[in-house]
Amino acid sequence: MTSVPTLADLLNEGVAGRIVLVRSDLNVPLDDDGNITDPGRIIASAPTIKALAEAGAGVIVTAHLGRPKGEPDPKFSLAPVAVRLGEELGRNVQLAGDVVGTDALARAEGLTDGDVLLLENVRFDPRETSKDDAERAKFAAALADLTGMNGAFVSDGFGVVHRKQASVYDVAKLLPHYAGGLVAAEVDVLERLTTDTARPYAVVLGGSKVSDKLGVIEALAPKVDTLVIGGGMAFTFLAAQGLQVGSSLLQEDQIDVCKDLLERFGDVIHLPVDVVVADKFAADAEAKTVAAEEIPEGWMGLDIGPESVKRFAAVLSGAKTIFWNGPSGVFEFEKFAAGTKGVAEAIVQATASGAFSVVGGGDSAAAVRLLGLPEDGFSHISTGGGASLEYLEGKELPGLAVLSS
Ligand code: ADP
Ligand code: MG
Repeated sequence: MTSVPTLADLLNEGVAGRIVLVRSDLNVPLDDDGNITDPGRIIASAPTIKALAEAGAGVIVTAHLGRPKGEPDPKFSLAPVAVRLGEELGRNVQLAGDVVGTDALARAEGLTDGDVLLLENVRFDPRETSKDDAERAKFAAALADLTGMNGAFVSDGFGVVHRKQASVYDVAKLLPHYAGGLVAAEVDVLERLTTDTARPYAVVLGGSKVSDKLGVIEALAPKVDTLVIGGGMAFTFLAAQGLQVGSSLLQEDQIDVCKDLLERFGDVIHLPVDVVVADKFAADAEAKTVAAEEIPEGWMGLDIGPESVKRFAAVLSGAKTIFWNGPSGVFEFEKFAAGTKGVAEAIVQATASGAFSVVGGGDSAAAVRLLGLPEDGFSHISTGGGASLEYLEGKELPGLAVLSS
């Protein structure tokens, strides 16, 4: 990362005897019984915490889980995360019973060198996400106070750096601040996707909502050699070409925008030529492959077809840089996973032949693991979908901007 103090700088200053507050992104998916189904973000967050603890800091970790409504809710407790993080670190992780309340305060005061304390879900306090600057500042001050006289703040929650929230943004204004190892690594990767990018540069987009990703299409289309579009978002583009898309996902209010994008960037945009359609949105739906021009009425496209995979794989095979965000189909249902798997395999192959490949997006990363693809088959799997997209759109990310001030 350019011109931002990093974890290495903080370790050089020395942290023994100091309390360091770390904002991590530990927002992992849980099943109905509260078991962690994908520990990816905990694994990615552990090295920064471990480095600080090993260097003798008392480490206070703050993070969110899910979307509680600004009050304590046992369903969103970080308790299972504390256990898993402890396993990852090979040391005990205490969990405070509150965020900045009496328990957190007492435990923070009792920290000795190398101890790790996880605060309860930071979104149990409504001030964390408040739009009122003064409210957020008050909460940030309470977080900063936990670090005592000689504290420091390490921003390592890459998945939240696009959020102007108290534990991400405001607290950095109150303490000496540093980019954690994960944030620095993620930003280095994104810099490679935006400056001096090795060509050909291919971007693979998919997922459900085209409106979420129009900004990134608009920003990347002029810069890339190939833009492959699959997933639910492809159908609004197909409709913009005048095709009937049956009951497929369609954002009618975006058809004109897609038409305009196709007019300006038609030479780089690749759309599916065949689709796997289903009679209902279900794992046990009846499925058949049809040409993109022949989607029957009442059927919905839930995956790209084999011919599309072949063509997408062909353009990807020559790429030197690949960014992939958004699955090509409803990979959660086995019958509609082949498109995503085929595209992902093509990216793995291109990577083996020397391409630099990045996977961004929670569901895309989950697809890699669920479909049994090798995680090390990609150059980088990002922990932050929204944050990487906003970075690539050229937006300023508050949680990064504040680190250079
Ligand atoms: P990411 O988290 O990687 O950014 P998104 O959140 O944008 O990806 O989209 C992921 C979702 O898109 C998945 O749950 C997948 O089932 C869904 N999806 C993919 N293709 C389709 C489709 N053809 N119709 C409906 N949903 C789709
Ligand atoms: Mg998603």
